[in-house]
Amino acid sequence: MELLVATNNLHKLEELKPLFAGHELLRSADAGIRDFNPEESGGTFFENALIKAEALYSLAGRPVIADDSGLCVEALGGRPGIESARYGAQNGGLLSAAEKNRLLLAELENVKDRRCAFVCCLVLYYGPQRFLCVQETLEGEIGMAPRGDQGFGYDPIVYLPERAKTVAELSQEEKNRISHRGKAAQKMAAMLGLVAIQ
Ligand code: IMP
Repeated sequence: MELLVATNNLHKLEELKPLFAGHELLRSADAGIRDFNPEESGGTFFENALIKAEALYSLAGRPVIADDSGLCVEALGGRPGIESARYGAQNGGLLSAAEKNRLLLAELENVKDRRCAFVCCLVLYYGPQRFLCVQETLEGEIGMAPRGDQGFGYDPIVYLPERAKTVAELSQEEKNRISHRGKAAQKMAAMLGLVAIQ
């Protein structure tokens, strides 16, 4: 089945593709929809994923997948959370990933509790009022300095003690096996195998 993905983030799309083997994942731009950028006005990952899914479905009129994700830091009361993409932004100008990572490390200077979790809410929306949703996490700790050059975003500062690696030191295959997005997509793909889309 052809599925449109409600994202402009190529990293996310490349992570999702192998997880939906047997289905063709396309960007909104591939369906002729330019500048897809709905306002993420929800208060949770789920609300924002549903906003993106509904917005793309209403433009494309066919099944879509939307992901809303971010990094929740325990000592910051769950911040940046749903604001992860806009963390540290001033006057509309977004920070680069490296700048966001530096800012987060500075916020956690001298903080002992470094627990954090990546969260991903994935929605497969196949018609008004009809959708599947899975939300998953990858738990880790904010490291002391960035490490690794795989992945994207906050990956270099999220350290996985049981692997003694940051997420940016995992191969894409390893990341997909254990990540928030990977686990949500594996469950979604399994549901897709069981549910006939009509
Ligand atoms: P959104 O889901 O497009 O609103 O943005 C999520 C933001 O969270 C991204 O821009 C990244 O900064 C961050 N993020 C989400 N998933 C990951 C991941 O797998 N690795 C690193 N950063 C991520």
